[in-house]
Amino acid sequence: MKLTLIAGARPNFIKIAPIINAIKQARSNGHQIQFRLVHTGQHYDSKMSDTFFNELNIPEPDINLGCGGGTQAEQTAAIMIAFEKDLITNPSDLVIVVGDVTSTMACSIVAKKLNTKVAHVEAGIRSYDLTMPEEINRMVTDCLSDYFFTTTKWAGDNLKKMGINDDRIFFVGNVMIDTLLANRSRFKKPDLWDKFDLKDQSYILITLHRPANVDEGNKLKSHLKEIVTNVQGLTVIFPIHPRTEKIFNDLDIHEPNLKTIAPLGYLEFNYLVERSKAVLTDSGGITEETTVMGVPCFTLRDNTERPETIEIGTNELIGTDPSAIKPALIKLFSGQWKRGAIPELWDGKSAERIVKQLIRIF
Ligand code: UDP
Repeated sequence: MKLTLIAGARPNFIKIAPIINAIKQARSNGHQIQFRLVHTGQHYDSKMSDTFFNELNIPEPDINLGCGGGTQAEQTAAIMIAFEKDLITNPSDLVIVVGDVTSTMACSIVAKKLNTKVAHVEAGIRSYDLTMPEEINRMVTDCLSDYFFTTTKWAGDNLKKMGINDDRIFFVGNVMIDTLLANRSRFKKPDLWDKFDLKDQSYILITLHRPANVDEGNKLKSHLKEIVTNVQGLTVIFPIHPRTEKIFNDLDIHEPNLKTIAPLGYLEFNYLVERSKAVLTDSGGITEETTVMGVPCFTLRDNTERPETIEIGTNELIGTDPSAIKPALIKLFSGQWKRGAIPELWDGKSAERIVKQLIRIF
């Protein structure tokens, strides 16, 4: 079996790592599996890409398509043109795409147009919010895929509503959680821990990069003001996504308890998550990680494609209006935040299940 694995952006690297490990494990058990790793270059900053390859022991990509930057359409087009050439030169039995980034959608379109089968890992999740590019990426990818690996039964139900047959949907759990559980004992104290005199639960961690929160400078400023003034003096650590950095730098915000830093590596970031009082975020993946680590999480979005993090986990949607932050923080500090549980099959073995199914199918 010849596989092509696609990875383009930070959350992709975290999802692809355990799949590669499971392939290597199957090979050592005698299964003939070849794979080619294609990096589309969507994230090219070393802090958003190389760090994850090093920390998570992901092999050097066979090719980097170098398609970073540009608008949504420019990036989609660049990835499609480059990946089409690559796939024609290196034919494959199956292209595996993960998550919901531009690379996921662009490469699944290319593969199907070259009559190559596509498997989508993290298929079927939906926010039903078409203002988010990720939702469009999910919908297009799921319209084209042949095999669907899902994180929840709900995601499978969404796919069935699209008319997809049960025998192509595999509820395997969550590969992002495979990475979390495999690396939890390796989490690494960042230098800033001592620099800012951090202690367990003595700080709040925030990440913001979605257009609804950061594209308008004043909105981002209001969010940050609401956070720093309502955290009862705790330190606020803000690793700034490159998308947010440009806007933030124009804001001229100087709050003594707000510490802005560059994006962290996976092991250092999750060291901070695990010990934080709470996380405020608009990331999808982080709501899954906080759920598994039992850390209170406020999502600054109006909807989520991961409802299990709310129904079962520690996450709550508070919306994108800055005035919602204060009441949420009051609830946190009064000790009323829910405790949560871990969703079914988020047990660290999802990639193993995926590879088992692929061996059965091919
Ligand atoms: N992450 C990281 N360093 C950071 C911020 C996030 O390693 O400074 C990790 C985080 O643990 C999670 C992933 O990046 O695994 C989430 O990526 P992102 O928020 O970019 O994507 P989303 O989940 O929103 O698609």
